[in-house]
Amino acid sequence: MKELEIGDLLHEGKAKKVFHTNHKAVVAVQFKDDATAFNAQKKAQLAGKGLLNWEISARLFEALENRGVASHYLGCLEPGWMAVQALKIVPLEVVLRNLAAGSLCKQLPIAPGSSLQPALLDLFYKDDALGDPLLTEARLKLLALLEPAERVQLEAISRDVNRVLQQIFVEINITLVDFKLEFGRCDAGKLLLADEISPDTCRLWNQSDQRVLDKDRFRKDLGGVVEAYGEVLKRVQGLGPTPRQYR
Ligand code: UDP
Repeated sequence: MKELEIGDLLHEGKAKKVFHTNHKAVVAVQFKDDATAFNAQKKAQLAGKGLLNWEISARLFEALENRGVASHYLGCLEPGWMAVQALKIVPLEVVLRNLAAGSLCKQLPIAPGSSLQPALLDLFYKDDALGDPLLTEARLKLLALLEPAERVQLEAISRDVNRVLQQIFVEINITLVDFKLEFGRCDAGKLLLADEISPDTCRLWNQSDQRVLDKDRFRKDLGGVVEAYGEVLKRVQGLGPTPRQYR
């Protein structure tokens, strides 16, 4: 097969750029240093964040794959870039919570750090202009974004991801508080885990002292954002070999 060549920009998001490639079924993702919070009202450039999230995400997608959870991830390109399957992204954010934090504690009378068992799973409609609203099952049906069987499948995969990620993070003394997933459909229509898994999209607490190792350091002006992401990478590196190159 011809070597992968990166083509035109297909989409630019808040933390990543997606490019066409010379292979129709493959797109190239570049992780950016831009940090945003509160629906992009707070913005900054954090030098090195892109590289950290790239490697953390690549390693976590590989760790998930090794434990039976498939994703769009195909392999790494040059530093900061990965090859992933071209998918049609479903405009939903799936949030799973093992411990209460963030918006949940602002919206409901639940104390931060409360254990949520089974993990709480919520769906949000992915639309910055609308502020990513929380969906009810009735509103999800109204939008007709998922077939009923896909709704079941989405939840089953998300709970598998949670189970496996919890196992992975426990090994490296990190508590997986909550995280956000996105999904897409391949040409054949199959739902597949997409996007990234990184301290931008997960709440991660150091197990011994609950030190925040994720984007809350940026949201709450705690400082040391890149250092905390670096700490996560160092521990994730301990899980296995260097991520694979895409051909
Ligand atoms: N999250 C995300 N993107 C979003 C919203 C949430 O990656 O657009 C992640 C967030 O980092 C956290 C989890 O989803 O790990 C739950 O976030 P929450 O709903 O508490 O929102 P927040 O407190 O970030 O407003």
